[in-house]
Amino acid sequence: MAKKTIERGFCALCGRALLSPEGICTLSDGNQVCSKCIRRLRVMLPLIVSVDSNGIIKLRNDTMQKLNLAEAKQKMQNVTAYTEKLRANYQNANAVFAVDQVQTEKGGFLKPTIYYATGRVIYGYFDPADQVQLKHGGNAFDLELKNVLKIGSISASFGNNTVQGIGGTQCVLQFSGKGIECAPGDLIVRR
Ligand SMILES: [Zn+2]
Repeated sequence: MAKKTIERGFCALCGRALLSPEGICTLSDGNQVCSKCIRRLRVMLPLIVSVDSNGIIKLRNDTMQKLNLAEAKQKMQNVTAYTEKLRANYQNANAVFAVDQVQTEKGGFLKPTIYYATGRVIYGYFDPADQVQLKHGGNAFDLELKNVLKIGSISASFGNNTVQGIGGTQCVLQFSGKGIECAPGDLIVRR
């Protein structure tokens, strides 16, 4: 079935028509912001959610919704400089992920352990098949991301919950490998 694309007004930041399937953000003064602008601003205005073991969202705190239009415009002007400053703090890596929680699963006969690292993307983007480096204590492990999953969806029963890990959001990075060590506080970095 084709998705309906009825207009819902216009983005207050870029003027683009808002389409009904896209996620929008309503600011504190009622102005609406499109998904493209949300993607750009998110790094400065994180979305914080917590989920229960069934993947149900228990708490959702969107710092973007607290802004009015003037403040959102100001943030948009600063977002490039803000991200460049973050990059400089992390040796100019393209993307950085901070691990909050680690779950593991047996990989099966002769297969390495599967890791699910829940955490937040500090900046940049993560996608399945990205080549990354896991920094654990003084060690670094080179890995390929098997998948990037919606937060809370760590099991096959959630079906296809692949997402792009976007700066300012939480997600789950799935990977496997022999001799890997991963713990809360580790960083996963894409060069
Ligand atoms: Zn927009």
